[in-house]
This record gives sequence, C-alpha cells and structure tokens, in this order.
Amino acid sequence: MNTFQETLINLGLSEEELNSGKLVVTGPICGSKLASIEMHKPRDVEQAIARANEAFKIWRAVPAPRRGELVRLLGEELRAAKEDLGRLVTIENGKIFSEGLGEVQEMIDICDFAVGLSRQLHGLTIASERAGHHMRETWHPMGVCGVITAFNFPVAVWAWNAALALVCGNPVIWKPSEKTSLTALATQKIFEKALARFGEAPEGLSQIVIGGPDIGDALVTSRAVAIVSATGSTRMGRIVGEKVAKRFGRSILELGGNNAMIVAPSADIDMAVRAITFSAVGTAGQRCTSLRRLIVHDSVYTELVDKLKTVYGSIKIGNPLEPDTLVGPLIDRDAYERFEIALKESKTQGGTIHGGERVLKDENPDAYYVQPALVEIKKVTDIVKTETFAPILYVQSYHRLEAAIALNNDVDQGLSSAIFTNDVREAEMFLSAVGSDCGIANVNIGTSGAEIGGAFGGEKETGGGRESGSDAWKSYMRRQTSTVNYSKELPLAQGVKFDVD
Ligand code: NAD
Repeated sequence: MNTFQETLINLGLSEEELNSGKLVVTGPICGSKLASIEMHKPRDVEQAIARANEAFKIWRAVPAPRRGELVRLLGEELRAAKEDLGRLVTIENGKIFSEGLGEVQEMIDICDFAVGLSRQLHGLTIASERAGHHMRETWHPMGVCGVITAFNFPVAVWAWNAALALVCGNPVIWKPSEKTSLTALATQKIFEKALARFGEAPEGLSQIVIGGPDIGDALVTSRAVAIVSATGSTRMGRIVGEKVAKRFGRSILELGGNNAMIVAPSADIDMAVRAITFSAVGTAGQRCTSLRRLIVHDSVYTELVDKLKTVYGSIKIGNPLEPDTLVGPLIDRDAYERFEIALKESKTQGGTIHGGERVLKDENPDAYYVQPALVEIKKVTDIVKTETFAPILYVQSYHRLEAAIALNNDVDQGLSSAIFTNDVREAEMFLSAVGSDCGIANVNIGTSGAEIGGAFGGEKETGGGRESGSDAWKSYMRRQTSTVNYSKELPLAQGVKFDVD
C-alpha cells in the first residue's frame, strides 16, 4: 500500500467514494488521476439548502457556548487527523508538506479562537436620551452560510468560515474548488466525527456540495442562503458579488491580490531576502498574499537583487512530500500556461527575466514544476498590474518613499503589503492614512503567512470582505438595536410631540 492509499484510509475515505463519479481529481505532483468522485446537481444543492434551513431553526436556539463545544470537538478531531489531512493537502494541492501541516494548524487555531468567541458574542448597551429607557444592541444568528473556496487553501478557508458561522448559530454549505474536492470530503469526515461525539446537532448543519461554478451558482442565487462567503479570483467575485447584491443577500468576498513590498535604505537586507523568498516562491506563488511586486530603494537595489538571484538559484524545487523541497508544482497545465504567457508579456513590456524555466519535465511530463522568476522592469505595465497566480516577482526601484507608496497602491487589488525598514518614521508613514491602501500592511515581515487572530481580507478588487479573527464574526450575524421603556411615560425621541388625547 502506498502513502496516498494509507492516507485516504486513515481519513475514512472509501474506495467506492473515490471511484464513483465523473469529477476527476488530478494530483499536481505527477499529474496523474487521484480519484473520480461524484458530482452534485443544482437540484441537490436546493435540497441541501432546505435541510440547512431546517437545521437553522434548531441551531439558532442552542446557546452559543454549547455551539462552541461542537467546534471544540472539531478542533480535537483536526489535531488527531493533522498529519493525514496535511499530507492529503500536499498530494492534492502540491504545497510542501510543512505548509500542508500549517494549513491544518490554521484550522485548529480558528477552532480555538471560535470556542472562546462562543462566550464573547457581545453587543453594546447605549445611553438613551429618554428617561426610563434603555437601549442595547444584540447580535443574532443570520441564517444559512454558503462557503465557496479556491484550490490554493483547500481546507483552511472552509474552517475560517465554518468555525465562526457555527458558533454564530448558522448552518454551513461548502462548495470546495473542483480541483481540490478530495481534501474537502476528508474534512467533512472529520467534521462528522466531531458531530457524532457532540450527539445532538440537527441534521444538515454542515454539508458539502461537489461540482463547478454551476453548483456554486445554485448557492449564490438562492434567497434561502443568507450569507455567501466566496474566495477565489476577482473574475469570480465580480459575478458572485453582483448576483448576491441583486437579491440583497450578504456576501463576504475574498478575491485576488497583487501584493507589494517596499525595501527601504535602512532595511536589514538579509532578513528581507528571506522574507521575500518565502512570500514570493512559497506555495509556488499560489497564495492570494504571495509577493508579486518588489519596490526597492535605488541605494540598495543592486545588493538586494544580486542576493535574491543567488538564493533563487539554490532553491530546491521538486516533490513537495520530500523534506528539503521548498517549491512544489503548479496546480495544473493551465496555471503553467498562464505563467508562460505572463513571462512572454513581461519581456515584450520591457522586463529582464531571471529564471522562469520549466524544470523536471522529463521525470514528470504531466506535472508542471517551474523555476521561480525574477523580472526586473522599470515601468508599471499592464502585466505588473495583473495577478498571475504563479511565482513571478516584478522588481522595480524607487527614490522617494512617497513614490514607493504610490507604486504599492497603483493596482486594482488591495490585499497585502509590507515594508522593510528600520526607520520608525518610514514604518509609521506606511501604516498611516496616507500609506498602504491594503487590508494587510506589515513591517519587517513578508506579505504572506497571516495569523488567525487578525481580520483577514483586502480592499478594492480584493472584495472588501473580512474573515477569521478580530470582529470578523459580525459578518455572520445580524445586528438588532432594541429600546426598552421601563418608565410610565411615552416620550418621543428628538423631543417630538404627538399627543393623541
Ligand atoms: P476561481 O475563481 O477559479 O475559483 C474559486 C471558486 O469559485 C471555485 O470553487 C469555483 O468553482 C467557484 N466559482 C467560479 N466561478 C463561479 C461562479 N460564477 N459562481 C459560483 N462559483 C464560482 O479561483 P481559484 O483559481 O480556485 O483560486 C485562485 C484565486 O483565488 C486567486 O485569484 C487568489 O488570489 C484567490 N484567493 C483569494 C483569497 C483571499 O482570501 N483573498 C484566498 C485564496 C485565494
């Protein structure tokens, strides 16, 4: 028995489930078929939505700390399955094993956060202008939460949403990426273990629907889905956002990024090189927060670029299950073709390319491993402004910090950003109202690798949604303002007089 089969058995996936349908799941490590699983039809989604709404009637009335107990058990089950689920993430998605494990750890972390949150879903009490009156704000469960996820974080993004939605009193229906549905099925099995231990949850509390955009669309267009949390490309978000808005539903959009780092003259260059490399080539450049643009002060440009070329030349590219590999494969052939096209366009638009070749082609003719590319380019051309989901880093120089910040902000997306500097004035300016326009702005760390404690998301074409920590839970609840009159008078607000006798 090989590692893959063992992993599937440990995760409780049966032979029958893995060979029963039309959706072919291909592993990026060698490009071979991993499974063919059953796909749902839009009418199955309708039934799932109906079940979820029945579950909502029960779940919303369960005390929040008790709902938190289910998420605590989910965290325990994830701890037990971490190794296997992390390996399956690597096999199905191609990120290195350490990142596969990290993704499952992120699921565990958000469960821990949500358990605490289940005792902290608090509102406000507000001073009333009327004597004998009391005003308060309460947060109530919102309804069914549809979760549409991308291939690059195949399981963590579900957990960000599900852990919060469940403690907030909402059932969840998950439509995973059609490229990574196996890890989703395995996650559902883990959730079912937690449910069995919890014992009294309503049927249909957390369901999974498998398929492509048409299955996602069935969630997006249904008035019975109160919240649609969609993670993926800006192209997808534009369609989903419009459709949900049209029916006055609530959407949480987590879309594309085109993230930059500024390296200032006072920066610790060696530390910057490490941060740049992890952010730009980690996950083979397939994170929404991957570093895509580097804006370097002209006084340190040559030193930094020379060091980066050396480090890029020594990065181990290969099978992501092997312990010393740092860069695994791209997800599929389409991703490789987009990488190639972007490099060709960069050249036409004046760029000088270092790296960017396809590697390990003879050993893996059906898999797509690439040497990460550095592209030195003077102008901000169309290609620099485009998110190509692959390890391409555009490098530009600057002279004045204001100009560097303007370059940072001169793209349609607004997800993550960073500055490397030891000058407190520069750091604070970058974080100020006239600094980075992104949802995430870091100092002396890279653009990727966020912790779950903060709210995660970005502005402009990144969609404006916030998930994970801080007060992101409010997106999963409805706010109610209540005024209670405990006096024997009926004064009206703003001193309005309305005497009827
Ligand atoms: P994608 O947009 O191709 O697909 C994402 C999901 O949307 C999939 O489940 C897909 O089936 C579904 N989908 C596509 N069209 C749809 C439609 N019309 N209606 C309903 N559902 C639809 O994205 P991808 O290639 O899987 O992922 C890469 C993209 O995701 C990148 O742009 C990346 O930046 C972005 N991303 C963003 C975040 C974030 O938090 N901001 C996180 C991860 C990935």
